[in-house]
Amino acid sequence: MHYDLIAIGGGSGGLSVVNRAAKHGARCAVVEYDRLGGTCVNRGCVPKKVMWYGASMAHWLHDAAGYGFTIEQKGFDWSALVAKREEYIQGINTWYDSYLSEPKVDVIRGTARFVSANTLDVGGTQYTADNIVIAPGGEPIVPDLPGAELGITSDGFFELQEQPKKVAVIGAGYIAVELAGMLAAFGTEVTQIIRKKHFLRGFDPILFNTLTDEMTRQGVELVTETLIRGLEKNADGGIDVLTYDDRLLTGFDTVIWAIGRRPLTDNLNLHAAGVFANEHGYIPTDQWEDTNVKGIYAIGDVNGKAQLTPVAIAAGRRLADRLYGGMPERRVHYENIPTVVFSHPPIGTVGMTEPEAHEVYGSDEIRCYTSSFTPMYSVFGQQPSQTALKLIVAGEEETVVGCHVIGIGADEMLQGFAVAIRMGATKRDFDDTVAIHPSSAEELVTMT
Ligand code: FAD
Ligand code: NDP
Repeated sequence: MHYDLIAIGGGSGGLSVVNRAAKHGARCAVVEYDRLGGTCVNRGCVPKKVMWYGASMAHWLHDAAGYGFTIEQKGFDWSALVAKREEYIQGINTWYDSYLSEPKVDVIRGTARFVSANTLDVGGTQYTADNIVIAPGGEPIVPDLPGAELGITSDGFFELQEQPKKVAVIGAGYIAVELAGMLAAFGTEVTQIIRKKHFLRGFDPILFNTLTDEMTRQGVELVTETLIRGLEKNADGGIDVLTYDDRLLTGFDTVIWAIGRRPLTDNLNLHAAGVFANEHGYIPTDQWEDTNVKGIYAIGDVNGKAQLTPVAIAAGRRLADRLYGGMPERRVHYENIPTVVFSHPPIGTVGMTEPEAHEVYGSDEIRCYTSSFTPMYSVFGQQPSQTALKLIVAGEEETVVGCHVIGIGADEMLQGFAVAIRMGATKRDFDDTVAIHPSSAEELVTMT
């Protein structure tokens, strides 16, 4: 069977490229061995956000007394939430049938392997295409340490049918802080183990410093500068985390590895097509998402540029627009990608961190405006949650090059500011914008 375009992987990137290319009239197929929707829908953003809302609900219930409510909390049913979450996800899986039937895209069930630069094998049948888009995403890393298999990953977290009582979360990135925050909100005893001084090291210091205070206040035990030797079952049936500095980290019922992800490229037989992958398995692409082989592209997590769903979707749609939509200049611009960490409270961030701005512009050329306060919501709540904001501006024009917010509402705040920053907004533009009052966001247009 011959197609104009085949995508390997029915996740955010693969589904987007085939849907858009088919709308432009291309004959397309997508190969997938698992449920449609990929990581984001089945074991990433979507189930995570459901759990985050549940955890936020726990915080609100706790705060309700401050607003005059007398609430008797009779418990929390983890398995009921998980069941509703999975039902919701099944609805999205089903919705993809219509997403792919109009415009018509063939779904090929199975695992794709390259036979040559324009031929794929799926379960013994060969398919050829003028263009092949590699979008297999990635999987969580489990380290090669004694007893590592006693731990689970984010995939295993979403399989938990009962609430764990005592959890160790190992790692320092998005997933580690998100899972640690949620579990703590639900009442699980959480220890987060970090190998460096703090988590979210690539983020602006105002964000990781504020979140460290918040998580500590919420009862998460942060164990820093600690290297893991392995995991071990103890006599009571719990799991002990063994460290090189012999810390006492014992009796966990669940240990979660959240130490990064690796691309799913090992089984693609890339060498048959001559596609280059680097030492970590990522497939480098140029600004057009072209690999080193003509007619083969790599989008989403597999190219290692920015592992976020909207990036994979944008890359897929724009590649299709370029190949079949008569839009030769369409591509993703990887600067100023806004992102949210669904911590408690959440983080919204876009542009350079302060250390990056110092390095790029030089210290004399940048200026930072910061603000930190207790938001009105928290004044009445039981938990004195903090909000912190930072604007980084550069040059005489005071162009805004970084905007960082942590606090209630930050997750919904940054999208609009990202548009302004992408358009080259200056501090003066921010100042000339009338504030929305009372809100936390208004601080960003009233900073002096
Ligand atoms: P995927 O969505 O992983 O899709 C790849 C698909 O390819 C999979 O379905 C896989 O089964 C299939 N596949 C692999 N190999 C083959 C093969 N050989 N043949 C056939 N099929 C194959 N991003 C955000 O923007 N916001 C968030 O809040 C967010 N939260 C996340 C939370 C977690 C816990 C995780 C793990 C990730 C989260 N992400 C989030 C990241 C986001 O999920 C990924 O960036 C996104 O899914 C990448 O899309 P993709 O198309 O590259 O890969
Ligand atoms: P990340 O790459 O974000 O973070 C993993 C971190 O764990 C590393 O940065 C490192 O931090 C630490 N680490 C690495 N190896 C080890 C080790 N052997 N022992 C202890 N710590 C280690 O990976 P995640 O798995 O958290 O997430 C993967 C990606 O998925 C994210 O980068 C993001 O792109 C995406 N994602 C997005 C979300 C969102 O948009 N809200 C949510 C979840 C995921 P250090 O070097 O400081 O120790």
